Amino acid sequence: MLIVGPETIFAQKSADAAIEKKIDRLLGKMTLKEKIGQMYQVSGPTRDAAAMQLIREGRVGSVLNVNNREDINRLQRLAVTETRLGIPLIVGRDVIHGYHTIFPIPLGQAATFDPELVKEGARVAAQEASSDGINWTFAPMLDIARDARWGRIAESFGEDPFLASVMGAAMVKGFQTERLSDKGTLAACAKHFIGYGAAEGGRDYNSTNIPERLMRNVYFPSFQAAVQAGAATVMTSFNDNDGVPSTANPFILKKVLRDEWHFDGFVVSDWTSPEEMINHGFAADRKEAALRSVNAGLDMEMVSKCYLNNLEELVKEGKVSISTIDNAVRNILRVKFRLGLFDHPYTDTPSTNPFYTDDNLAKAKKAAVESVVLLKNTNHLLPLTSAVKTVAVIGPLADAQHDQMGTWVFDGENGHTQTPLMAIRKMYGDRVNVLYEQGLAFCRDTNKSRFPQALEAAQKADVVFLFVGEESIMSGEAHSFSNLGFKGAQSELLQELKKSGKPIVMVVMAGRPMTIMKEVAAADATLYVWHPGTMGGPAIADLLFGKEVPSGKLPATFPKESGQIPFFYNHNNTGRPAPENVMTLDRIPLNAGQTSLGNTSYYLDSGNRPWLPFGFGLSYTDFAYGNLQLSSGSMKKTGYVTVSCDLTNNGTLDATEVVQLYVRDIAGSITRPVKELKGFQRIALRSGETKKISFELKAEDLAFYGIDNVKKVEPGDFLIFIGGDSDTKLCQKLIVTE
Ligand code: BGC
Repeated sequence: MLIVGPETIFAQKSADAAIEKKIDRLLGKMTLKEKIGQMYQVSGPTRDAAAMQLIREGRVGSVLNVNNREDINRLQRLAVTETRLGIPLIVGRDVIHGYHTIFPIPLGQAATFDPELVKEGARVAAQEASSDGINWTFAPMLDIARDARWGRIAESFGEDPFLASVMGAAMVKGFQTERLSDKGTLAACAKHFIGYGAAEGGRDYNSTNIPERLMRNVYFPSFQAAVQAGAATVMTSFNDNDGVPSTANPFILKKVLRDEWHFDGFVVSDWTSPEEMINHGFAADRKEAALRSVNAGLDMEMVSKCYLNNLEELVKEGKVSISTIDNAVRNILRVKFRLGLFDHPYTDTPSTNPFYTDDNLAKAKKAAVESVVLLKNTNHLLPLTSAVKTVAVIGPLADAQHDQMGTWVFDGENGHTQTPLMAIRKMYGDRVNVLYEQGLAFCRDTNKSRFPQALEAAQKADVVFLFVGEESIMSGEAHSFSNLGFKGAQSELLQELKKSGKPIVMVVMAGRPMTIMKEVAAADATLYVWHPGTMGGPAIADLLFGKEVPSGKLPATFPKESGQIPFFYNHNNTGRPAPENVMTLDRIPLNAGQTSLGNTSYYLDSGNRPWLPFGFGLSYTDFAYGNLQLSSGSMKKTGYVTVSCDLTNNGTLDATEVVQLYVRDIAGSITRPVKELKGFQRIALRSGETKKISFELKAEDLAFYGIDNVKKVEPGDFLIFIGGDSDTKLCQKLIVTE
């Protein structure tokens, strides 16, 4: 049985003394120009003669956006054979959820609550990408995302610090394995440090205002877990927090990352973020941007040339010390040595094609299956019974090879993507007749001219599968929305199909939680499949026809409407928490006099509840929880208790449930969240089976940064919850003593 907890976080390897000696020797030979060169990363230099020349001169440390072996080996040869010291380049790329074989978007991977699977996905990505000469991926993205308006929620593991920590550490391990110098690895990059997901209003690149304590309790843990798992690099974020852009923030880069977490890899900026500090109003010009970044602890600059063109002068003027430069270069060279780049700078042609292997496709399919969340299943419509002879497959995303791959895909190819329509025809075509009508050409389409054909197909079918949602480009970087409903005429298409009177299974592909409560109410069943990647089609087909049973759980709260955002389960209670059923707008009398008495914290129109809570997800079977027990009603602040419950599968199908452990600290030195996730387990149960599920809860799992900003366990009363989502009421009291 897999018990997920802080013990999955691996200790950081200590620095290798032999490598440090090699770095010393190299640094001793390097000119200032060559050192500054290591601190510069250039994009796509194969198309740029001036950039190629810079590589020849030893003035480039890294390249990004080159994705084939021939070009990468050619560039590497310039660095290794034509420069004075032959220092190899480190080659970066955004390999976010797969290289050629595309896995579900990270938010979908988070919905699996299966870190082993996330690790496997990263292994596949690393093997494929490294075979092309890539050594470094800009992943995992560890931003805590409590705002679905923010398009990059798709790239995150969602809203919860514990889930993001476990998944982030697993992804780092998958990319890097135990030894970065092994074949088939990529250096990981924990990004975007820090707070980027808290952009005001969900508008990308926007300012954040996260105070230190919140930072430590909510935004830092996923990064710390990645560093402890050995992440070789960290990327700074675009945002300014409380007026200080991350790229030049010594508190996060020096005090936290280096002094507290003992990170010894290197820190890269985000794309041109040093230069963007001029727009922020934090630097008057590129020279000041370089000065503030380097002195804050930024080692490498991505794309903009503040360092390349100004550091030499800044050193000569005595504003930047040579030891600051040496430290940065040391960090960069350390990662290059750990990757084994000095010994094996070039990439051999693999003997067999490493892309889309059967094994990789099988893993991508498993990830897609586990990522799917069942939101509704009226009258057990799913899985389809053998009585269903004809299905109508309708909608703009039924056969959308490009869109189902999701955001941040550069190397996945449409031609290899297996869509639901293709999979239903191929895998289940002998069982059912398949009628296909697109209805709308794409998600934003408002042209209803093909509605009659879609309705006709629905009328001829026993069941309708409606594939709707978001195109891949609707989420990801710089794709924020203020309205999270369906675009185009997708809602109207659903209404049109309802005229057929046939049961409708809505399958939603999206990069974020969408506010589609009304549409889900209108459909008979709904599968939320995120952007499921290359193997999304076969995964969805198996779920529809019952070869697989959904087990995914929401990694983010689904609000009723975007006006409720930010809305997350682990919020504080307030002094006037709302009861379960709050007063609604139409119950306020006309000409009501001013009063706030008896009122609590909620919206008059949408209440105090989201649409769906964090951790929610149905199954084709019914799970029942009971008999929650603690091995002891109290524990010392250095001790532990075993928390157990009985889980029963009351349905007729074998299935897997994600059992979730939450705690609530009743009173602390600071106000405490109403619930916090502290553990989860995926439990497979046969129909009719009951199992006792146990978690070991250590007192240290309850530690947090309190009033004095020091992490510790505060004795007192706690509630310990177990359940199938964050709304669970099944709880026991636990007293923590001195
Ligand atoms: C993104 C990063 C990404 C980088 C390189 C930036 O725009 O914010 O996440 O790694 O580009 O492509």
